[in-house]
Amino acid sequence: MSDFGKYFLPGPTEVRPEVLGSMVRPVIGHRGPEMEKLMSRVQPRLRRLFRTGRPVYVSTSSATGLMEAAIRNCVPDRVLSLVCGAFSERFHKIAVACGKAADRIDVELGESNEPGPLVDALGRGDYDAVTVVHSETSTGVLNPLAEIAAALRESSPETLVLVDCVTSLAATPVEVDGWGLDFALTGSQKGLALPPGLAFGVASQHAYERSLEAPGRGLYFSFEAFEGAVAKGQTANTPAASLLFALDAQLERIEAEGLEARWARHRAMAERTWRWVDEMREVHGIALRVLAAERRRSPSVTCVALPEGLSGIDVTRRMAERGYTIAAGYGKLRESTFRIGHMGDHTVEELEALLDELASVIAEQGQRG
Ligand SMILES: *Cc1c(COP(=O)(O)O)cnc(C)c1O
Repeated sequence: MSDFGKYFLPGPTEVRPEVLGSMVRPVIGHRGPEMEKLMSRVQPRLRRLFRTGRPVYVSTSSATGLMEAAIRNCVPDRVLSLVCGAFSERFHKIAVACGKAADRIDVELGESNEPGPLVDALGRGDYDAVTVVHSETSTGVLNPLAEIAAALRESSPETLVLVDCVTSLAATPVEVDGWGLDFALTGSQKGLALPPGLAFGVASQHAYERSLEAPGRGLYFSFEAFEGAVAKGQTANTPAASLLFALDAQLERIEAEGLEARWARHRAMAERTWRWVDEMREVHGIALRVLAAERRRSPSVTCVALPEGLSGIDVTRRMAERGYTIAAGYGKLRESTFRIGHMGDHTVEELEALLDELASVIAEQGQRG
């Protein structure tokens, strides 16, 4: 029996033993028929995952690599970043580091980015692109991505929408073609429940064509190189072949479960977690609170705000002593919150066991404090 089911970090997420096992085999060359067969198996499955007819780029990098690719390929001059936490702020920092004229719209931690302020900002300036994070892992907020993309299309049709779907893809609906996303990216180690080290992205035809004119877009992360590689059933450079074996195995598992069923499982885990927070407050009198507003909560990560006197770092450490991994808050929220990553391949049953343990840890701490 494996120990699966005690590791609830909001990334990297726990990987099923059989998926890990699929990597234990000889490495293969990336210009041979075996790799081409593998790539031709994973490509249609990746497209179904992203709900797109466009090629899906496979990158040997973490997700941040493709965030940088988004900026380099899609932003000749000016970009606007919607910021609601650490990862959406990272998009802005990357743009600054790439030498772009970068503006940002900030909201309080725990709040979501909404179309209204975006439309106002678009009226004040011309932007090549807007960046947005769908599920902000540091605060547990799910931004209204479809509405943001629609508002952008309406008020500034030439502006590209670049989206980080790292903790939303494969956990909740992400309709790349249906919502008109110009670039959507994810990493392997979050919603997909793979080991870290791969990232995946898809560019709209429009974004791809614009990228061909983008100055200084580089080579390793150029859309042109990715697109050429997919057309040949290859990768542009030496890929992390072992991770591709895991991808192949995991995409087969995801198709066997069904994408809609996977979304529903995430929804059920999230709702169970929110209900538990309410029970802690209403039944046990411990003033826990889900940081994100009810209609803007991520299905894959919940950030729980603690009352005065309780510390996220302590809760996390005491859970670790009991064999469970959760995360303390991120950045400024480090002490005042903790986070549960109910994403990837976990089940509601495993989550129940975690929440029971967590209730007893918090009750103990509440008494001492
Ligand atoms: C984890 C995460 C990233 C960064 O991923 P890396 O794989 O560490 O580069 C970006 N965005 C979000 C929303 C994340 O959760």
